[in-house]
Amino acid sequence: MPEPLQFIDLAAQRVRLGRTIDEAIARVLQHGCFIMGPEVAELERRLAEFTGASHVVTCASGTDALILPLLALGVGPGDAVFVPSFTFAATAEAVALCGATPIFIDVDARHFSLDARCLPAAIDLAERHDLRPVGVIPVDLFGHPADYPAIQAIARRSDLWVLADAAQSFGATLGGCRVGRFGIATATSFFPAKPLGCYGDGGAVFTDDEHLADVMRSLRTHGQGREKYDNVRIGINGRLDTIQAAILLRKLDIFEDELARREAVAHQYSVGLSGLVSVPTVADGNISAWAQYTISLIQRDRVAENLREKGIPTAIYYPKPLHQQVAYRGFPRSPEGLHTSVRLAEGVLSLPMHPYLRPSDQERIVEALKAVIR
Ligand SMILES: *Cc1c(COP(=O)(O)O)cnc(C)c1O
Repeated sequence: MPEPLQFIDLAAQRVRLGRTIDEAIARVLQHGCFIMGPEVAELERRLAEFTGASHVVTCASGTDALILPLLALGVGPGDAVFVPSFTFAATAEAVALCGATPIFIDVDARHFSLDARCLPAAIDLAERHDLRPVGVIPVDLFGHPADYPAIQAIARRSDLWVLADAAQSFGATLGGCRVGRFGIATATSFFPAKPLGCYGDGGAVFTDDEHLADVMRSLRTHGQGREKYDNVRIGINGRLDTIQAAILLRKLDIFEDELARREAVAHQYSVGLSGLVSVPTVADGNISAWAQYTISLIQRDRVAENLREKGIPTAIYYPKPLHQQVAYRGFPRSPEGLHTSVRLAEGVLSLPMHPYLRPSDQERIVEALKAVIR
């Protein structure tokens, strides 16, 4: 059997970066400011430059990047927040942790993200449940920006805020604008497997709202006020480690090039696989961050097993939509059903995707898929 492939090859990136990361970490060890050291402020500046967002608040994880804006917006018991069912748990978890009620909405099969057409009926449903509809959290699943123009049009009419869960889409663009500028705030994650990952947990919130940014900065340090031991609100310990900021700065240097490589990998997959399976599409004028290259097909489990035997790893994101999971099945659901979420969970398969995937290895993956599907 040929050598097994990697699903995400972090070692290849490490080889490319050479000693720059080791040196960046060594500098932090030397200055010793492990909490809110100078690298954190520098990273926030660089991320603001990269996205065009006015304010960047780094934090300890992508989950905290969702919790911080929800806390800052005062979301709590009696509030309803609309979230897709076909996503990672953190999207709904952050809402429930704040004491609010997540309401599950179906996704659109073409871009895997929240189907704006289902929002109006869900808003009515919230009111029938005696809940106050306050906001919506679209998820840029697999790296494709959600349909923000459509979602925002409905949100504006119903006086809802939009919080973007861009954990998987950092670096993507919509209508020429980078992720980080849509909605009242954008949350992203630097978990190692995300498009821009650190060597542990990390995240950031982007916003153009200065007051919101100030409140989130306070919240990430236990609700600290002007003076260190005068807390003015209930917060969390949600800071990004200086060492992770130092690592991210060096990875950000090559990030645009990595995005272009991901785009090339996705293109080669799509050329090889269209007509054979359902391939992901990106709306005209948009660029995906290609966190995952996800196809959908019948007999998914048989195909995955066959690929595994040939040394080709795959992953299933996600085998169960949230509304079917033990912790979440009690929350309200869109009156229009969650059929697409259920169907996708049965058929999706993510293929190896990273900026260093060689064309010859991709050829091997495409040929293996052709052999098992034909
Ligand atoms: C990864 C992820 C998160 C959470 O990020 P962490 O850094 O792991 O806390 C939230 N939402 C989505 C859609 C994700 O993929």
